[in-house]
Amino acid sequence: MSNKLVDRLNKGPVICAEGFLFEIERRGYMASGEFVPMVSLDHPHVLENLHREFQHAGSDVVEAFTYNGHREKMRVIGKEELLEPLNRSALKIAKKVAMDTPEGMAPNLMAGNISNSNIWKEDDKKAQLEVEKMFSEMIGWAVDEGADMLIGETFYYAEEAFKALEIMKKSGLPTVLTISPMGENKMRDGMSVVDTCKELEQRGADVVGLNCFRGPETMMPYLKKVRAAVKCHVGALPIPYRTSDDHPTFFNLPDYDNCKCPSPHGRTFPTALDPMFCNRYEMGQFAKDAYDMKINYLGVCCGANPMLIRETAEAVGLKVPASKYRENMENHFMYGKNKRIPKHMTDYGNKA
Ligand SMILES: [Zn+2]
Repeated sequence: MSNKLVDRLNKGPVICAEGFLFEIERRGYMASGEFVPMVSLDHPHVLENLHREFQHAGSDVVEAFTYNGHREKMRVIGKEELLEPLNRSALKIAKKVAMDTPEGMAPNLMAGNISNSNIWKEDDKKAQLEVEKMFSEMIGWAVDEGADMLIGETFYYAEEAFKALEIMKKSGLPTVLTISPMGENKMRDGMSVVDTCKELEQRGADVVGLNCFRGPETMMPYLKKVRAAVKCHVGALPIPYRTSDDHPTFFNLPDYDNCKCPSPHGRTFPTALDPMFCNRYEMGQFAKDAYDMKINYLGVCCGANPMLIRETAEAVGLKVPASKYRENMENHFMYGKNKRIPKHMTDYGNKA
């Protein structure tokens, strides 16, 4: 049976933009902290436009924005009746954009999405059954709305990731399963990162790897081990923040830039992370290093924006529609080398 995703990965890089939660929040269409993707119902054009911007920047996958759009979260905000409309709307928007790929680009793949439920608990069979039902209904809607592939992401319990994969595989669609170990550097149910990825491969995932929570510095060491341990394709979708060995995830990342206005809730996550943002070159270098290791499924998670997706795509040799507008310092009014830039301006550059 042909596998559209694996066929493409066998030929080269596949780019997947993630991080819709942070970007929609930054654009003013979602409450931070609560993080419910009501945007697919409240402002569908805003979501469609963000998909198009990521597509323009080189994303090959249009991932339906159903992250946190699960029954439990809808219960938390008292809007359970909107669960199915929210999911279907997000899926329809993603499908519409995926079917409308810019000329010269390979057709996009629309991905259905399930993620960490936040109610999964070891040895709590009742909670686990609840999660299974949540995943099943969401995958059902994704298949219904024409998903080309399925992404299960941001799992920090190994068993929850296995359950997600089991349900995703019943659809027969290509599957991506990426995990997100927290600060203890292992899954919350005790399994190591590498063993979890090996097990996911054994259970039939087409792509295994890591997404979210970790910046390039603290994700790369695990990617190297995962790449060496599995034969299948590997995915790498870090957050663009400067995490470190002392603070491996963005949850407890301190502000080391002498912040005079700390957040009222006492931590930089998720609203005061800006000073720890990675620049585009750091993200491009990460993508190149990963691709050189034969990691072909690449993207950026929470904190991503179209500029970083373009940087990721270009770092692995792709030319994308947004490449037309890549940086051109040549014509800068003070730092450019263009002959028309007056000397009194170029001379002043270091005093500016
Ligand atoms: Zn994320």
